[in-house]
Amino acid sequence: MRLTSLSFLGLLLLLSVDIIYCGTDYYSVLGVSRSASSREIKKRYKQLSKKYHPDKNPGDKEAEQKFVQLAEAYEVLSDDEKRDIYDRYGEEGLKQRSQGGGGFHNPFDIFASFFGGTGHFGHHQQSERQGPNITMELEVELKELYLGAQIEVDVSKQVICEHCGGSGAKKADDVITCNVCGGRGVKVVKQQLGPGIFQQFHSTCETCGGVGKIVKSKCPVCKGKKVRRGNEQLTIIIEKGQVDGGTIVFEKEGDESPETIPGDIIFKVNTIPNPTFERKGNDLYAEQTISLIDALTGFEKNMTHLDDRNVLLKRDKVTQPGFVQIIKNEGMPQFRSQSKGDLYVKYTVVFPSVIDDNTKQEKRFNVV
Ligand SMILES: [Zn+2]
Ligand SMILES: [Zn+2]
Repeated sequence: MRLTSLSFLGLLLLLSVDIIYCGTDYYSVLGVSRSASSREIKKRYKQLSKKYHPDKNPGDKEAEQKFVQLAEAYEVLSDDEKRDIYDRYGEEGLKQRSQGGGGFHNPFDIFASFFGGTGHFGHHQQSERQGPNITMELEVELKELYLGAQIEVDVSKQVICEHCGGSGAKKADDVITCNVCGGRGVKVVKQQLGPGIFQQFHSTCETCGGVGKIVKSKCPVCKGKKVRRGNEQLTIIIEKGQVDGGTIVFEKEGDESPETIPGDIIFKVNTIPNPTFERKGNDLYAEQTISLIDALTGFEKNMTHLDDRNVLLKRDKVTQPGFVQIIKNEGMPQFRSQSKGDLYVKYTVVFPSVIDDNTKQEKRFNVV
């Protein structure tokens, strides 16, 4: 199967467009050493991709190219299998591999997997075990949803012990193959059923707990637990018009544990009520109080919007109490779109509490 597809792969290789920049050293793109840990690689990518993001460098082609390269370098070096192929066979090896489907993801999706996104990148194989997802409420001001924002949060989570790299052992050679099961994790038990009749079955090795390896002396930092409590700083990008209850997903940022892929951290947007504006979908609702004279004769007044801009409220007709004026395109920005909702202003008319005698007798309005 592997052999027969090789020549076909070769043919595809000739026809395919180069998607990897020639001569790119992924380690130097990220500025890490060849022995860098996955944690280090992740940290570097987070730092640099933020710096070179096209939004921060409008019109800068070099920054844009750097941003794409960073995503590619991260994609290869963060994946143990791809990194191994790259280390051994270089880009050529990766190119051959990518013919079997895959290739590179959209750099923006990779960026979004760190700074909050809807989650397209990094779908792992079903055979790999993944830890549970962590869901957290994220309290956001309406103003932040209107303008877009960047929120830094500290997340407390379980991390792999850096000292032992998750082995739980003091030194690398303290992890030895279990001599009871010979590293298989299971042992064969023979049971005699009758004279000359034996039954063989497998049972989990109790000595190593089925892992096949035992630790001679434990790591002094984690006491052999392989993990410790730690925290991660996450930068959440709130996009303009993000919906209430919407989720921002950080893939594989959940609790770390050896032999499993971390689950996702999912932030659920929860809007803090605003004293002036109420949001319904993409529209905003507000109330304004006007005097009786303004209600009768018309008015011009300013209303401060969520971005501190003044919006002119203007009426030259009689305004009935409870009248709702619709101001087009002054609502919320629509998520990932250029359009905006509308602003609905409901008027409350304040009547004077006293009226002078002249006005009373003349039965004419003379109030201010
Ligand atoms: Zn340790
Ligand atoms: Zn064993």
